[in-house]
Amino acid sequence: MDARETYKRVFQLLREHHDFFSRCIPLIASENVTSPAVREALISDFGHRYAEGWPGERVYAGCRYIDEVEIIAIELAKEIFRAEFVDVRPISGVCANLVMYTAFTEPGDRIMALSIPDGGHISMARKGLWGTAGAVHGLRVQYFEYDDENLNIDIDATIKKIRRLEGEGKHIKLYLLGASVFPFPHPVKEISEIAAEYGAKVAYDAAHVAGLIGAGLFQDPLREGADCVQMSTHKTLFGPQRGMILSWERYAERLKRALFPANVSNHHLHTLAGLAVALCEFKEFGRAYARQVVRNAKALGQALYERGFKVLGESLGFTESHVLLVDVVDTPLRNGFRVEKTLEKAGIIVNRNLLPYDVKKGRHYREPGGIRLGVSEVTRLGMKETEMEEIAEFMKRAVIDGENPENISREVEEFRKEYQHCHYCFERAVEAYRYIKLR
Ligand SMILES: *Cc1c(COP(=O)(O)O)cnc(C)c1O
Repeated sequence: MDARETYKRVFQLLREHHDFFSRCIPLIASENVTSPAVREALISDFGHRYAEGWPGERVYAGCRYIDEVEIIAIELAKEIFRAEFVDVRPISGVCANLVMYTAFTEPGDRIMALSIPDGGHISMARKGLWGTAGAVHGLRVQYFEYDDENLNIDIDATIKKIRRLEGEGKHIKLYLLGASVFPFPHPVKEISEIAAEYGAKVAYDAAHVAGLIGAGLFQDPLREGADCVQMSTHKTLFGPQRGMILSWERYAERLKRALFPANVSNHHLHTLAGLAVALCEFKEFGRAYARQVVRNAKALGQALYERGFKVLGESLGFTESHVLLVDVVDTPLRNGFRVEKTLEKAGIIVNRNLLPYDVKKGRHYREPGGIRLGVSEVTRLGMKETEMEEIAEFMKRAVIDGENPENISREVEEFRKEYQHCHYCFERAVEAYRYIKLR
């Protein structure tokens, strides 16, 4: 490979990617777009530095400004989430979960979490699946019982299972609530009660719903009994790709140590600066944004349903969050893989997803029965309920009517032209997907 040519090629690919995303409808539930202000922080010199330890007690010199930014991020997060203790140093959601496992469990302990088909994340999974809990921290994982109809933990069946396991001497050390397909609030209160009975801890993975919780919507896991809340900062919360931990003062010391030195050395200071900026934006605009996210998700669910899609959770209003799960088995394309590929050709970016009953029906993650949709990013771009109807119509034409997706993509591009700026932020001089050149 010629170095100079390859160098040019990398920049060309970056530009094409920006252009591609400026023309598409982005509906990946775990994604969002940061403001131009956050992007400015991401290219600052903070990204070249180290600041191991806690602000004011660093292992490195040169941290005076970094410390102040980190303290700002901590204070903002404490306010937004009403948390006694916040650690903003996890570099991702998986990292935040690992820190929590390190603080509250020992290898060999048993935890309970959701299985992957029921919406659990790979960081909660068993060693046999290369899940982080099992493969990295040596935990044994039991599953919550799940109610396919209500898309939630079946609390009665779960309590029965817990009593049986405890009766057999199989103690559960930690309950890990939260999920990657998370349309309805989890029974944190009920799980916290039974956890207290058996002396167990309760953690809550808010990776997907952090932005809703910060806005006072969805649920309030700390007040409902959780000991620790871990999150990604870039899903419904519109920060840079990173993680965060919320907890109580009584667990502060062990969480700090479990983070540094146990799990994190460099804590990626440019994305920390971006997080501080995003939390300012969230404090000012987070409520309006999150309310619109939930309205848009419900509107998209309804619009798809009316056009013949089998959107799950119909009797419950489809969702209380940003996410929808759609069973595509009865569409002409028959599985989530083919729907994902066809929609991509039409300029609509979604991901295929296992449905809770897929494994029982012999389907697997490569060709699952569903797709998962999220509306965080389109909401950040300023779309409202009427735009959700237009998106549903594009999807129907591509998936149900079998129209040529390339033709649809041209209309999608036209539709997108009006939504090129980031909303819910202080400054929007630059478009959301503008490629910024410094060379
Ligand atoms: C996305 C996600 C994570 C992982 O977060 P990263 O920031 O990608 O490491 C953890 N838990 C859940 C439930 C998630 O959905």
